[in-house]
Amino acid sequence: MSSTRKLAIACPHCGSTDTFYSCEPKCCFNHVCGDCRGTFEPVTKATGAVRRGLTPPDPLPDPSEPAVACAKCESVAVFTAEDEALVCTDCGAVLEMELTELAPP
Ligand SMILES: [Zn+2]
Ligand SMILES: [Zn+2]
Repeated sequence: MSSTRKLAIACPHCGSTDTFYSCEPKCCFNHVCGDCRGTFEPVTKATGAVRRGLTPPDPLPDPSEPAVACAKCESVAVFTAEDEALVCTDCGAVLEMELTELAPP
């Protein structure tokens, strides 16, 4: 088993990694930057690759930490693998992240 670490999403407005998730998965993925207060929503796209046997970080990130839903199974158990790949630890999909709904502060 190999482990993963929690996501870090850099703010598309100012580049800060001090970003947090301000909503909940059943609503939307609006994130807010703690530095510039700009907002954005991350979405994922499946690359077609699958990686099994990855475990979520321990401890799991706080609900206010950056999060994104898997494009395949909609799980929010999407984390960063040791080689920086974005992987869903539920279904194993290797994902690419895109930032949408960019709203500058
Ligand atoms: Zn920012
Ligand atoms: Zn998945």
